[in-house]
Amino acid sequence: MKVASTERSFDVESIRKDFPILLREVNGKPLVYFDNAATSQTPQQVIDAIVDYYSRYNANIHRGVHTLSQEATDAYEEARRKVQQHFNAAKAHEIIFTSGTTHAINLVASGFSTLLKVGDEIIVSALEHHSNIVPWQMLAEKTGAILKVIPMNEQGMLKMDEYQQLLSEKTKLVFVNHVSNALGTVNPIKEIIDSAHNRGAAVLVDGAQAAPHIKADMQELDVDFYAVSAHKMCGPTGVGMLYGKEEWLKKLPPYQGGGEMIATVTFEKTTYADLPHKFEAGTPDICGGIAFGAALDYMNSIGYENIAAYEHELLAYATQELLKIEDLRIYGTSVEKTAVISFNIGSIHPYDIGTIIDKLGIAVRTGHHCAQPIMDYYKIPGTVRASFAFYNTREEIDNFVGAVKRAKNMLS
Ligand SMILES: *Cc1c(COP(=O)(O)O)cnc(C)c1O
Repeated sequence: MKVASTERSFDVESIRKDFPILLREVNGKPLVYFDNAATSQTPQQVIDAIVDYYSRYNANIHRGVHTLSQEATDAYEEARRKVQQHFNAAKAHEIIFTSGTTHAINLVASGFSTLLKVGDEIIVSALEHHSNIVPWQMLAEKTGAILKVIPMNEQGMLKMDEYQQLLSEKTKLVFVNHVSNALGTVNPIKEIIDSAHNRGAAVLVDGAQAAPHIKADMQELDVDFYAVSAHKMCGPTGVGMLYGKEEWLKKLPPYQGGGEMIATVTFEKTTYADLPHKFEAGTPDICGGIAFGAALDYMNSIGYENIAAYEHELLAYATQELLKIEDLRIYGTSVEKTAVISFNIGSIHPYDIGTIIDKLGIAVRTGHHCAQPIMDYYKIPGTVRASFAFYNTREEIDNFVGAVKRAKNMLS
């Protein structure tokens, strides 16, 4: 299919050629990769950036006077500016490279342990990934702050009126995901942010699941913190970003001590480096940061509007075809959702479906998707989750739906 575009024209067959892994066979069948919400596949352009770094200019950054070190430093800082531009942050030093979303959230949670006191309130949503729950529980335990939860409804949407009730002068921090990884729900984060700010509370948005589908604008959202992982948006594992408003990053203490994050060190007193280095102790994933920049270039060459339009079609088609299967129930039916389908068939265990369709070359995820509270809400142990990317096709969906039907016949 083709979608009109200002970028490179959207031709899925030509896009697929960028991804060497899509040529693979699994169990003698062509790979159908529908586990994109867990990690995306890597285009040749990003693989080339990694090979180029290690082949030509691998060196430690920021301290070296020699040429290789300067080239590596320039490329790493250029990648930071690409991340800044992509997310429209006001300043490059508001972009902190982290090892991923989990690291980014822990950095903020750890910093807030010095800012919260007994009786302060922090608000989480019922739709979160464990990595946006557990660090805050640990924070609440440490500080005596009270953790409150925005409940969800049957469609997998947040109950916004109840959110408004939870907010008060005691609220210091709200943390929600932009998109739920288990259900695909797109949360109304602008409303969440504005309401929190009206009460003087800060907001952290876990953007891990949004970043592959939605281009979030930090200034327009006026968000305080935003976290993503490169590996969910065509980049490598081991790198991600924390966006933080300058005023907040100045207020938070450093997360880890070490090299790179200091200005001066004596045994009496150490002074910390300026942003962003204050939060980047030790040698970072230099190659990963550069490859993250290459991944953003790649995503932008396809174009987020093209990606959203095409994935929306895949989602609508797969939803329609799956619902033809008797006893199949889809969890997460928000109008605003990304290309994720979580489902079960009757009382068949999701793991059994996942195992059978893997034999047919199809990769999906089964289980609680690191979001046990959502599974508890629906009173299920887990779901089968198929999550699509812009390099997937309708033919792959046909293949997948056929495989699910076969699995159902074998298991019921
Ligand atoms: C994947 C994911 C995370 C965790 O990302 P890591 O790369 O494992 O740190 C957090 N939140 C959401 C919504 C996710 O999808």
